[in-house]
Amino acid sequence: MIASYHVAVLALLHAGLLVPGETYDIEVLHDDDCSLLVRRGTCDCEPEIRVREVHRAVC
Ligand SMILES: [Zn+2]
Repeated sequence: MIASYHVAVLALLHAGLLVPGETYDIEVLHDDDCSLLVRRGTCDCEPEIRVREVHRAVC
């Protein structure tokens, strides 16, 4: 079973919001009763996904 947050991140990729080859810091905020957090199984909530592009230093 694929975790809910994996589906959410893949949806961002398919929507063109994540560009292959770029680096992102992705924060996943799960619901308090998410099975992943209470150790009952994989993520089954509708997490909030926060994405921040990581810019590389130019030398
Ligand atoms: Zn979750």
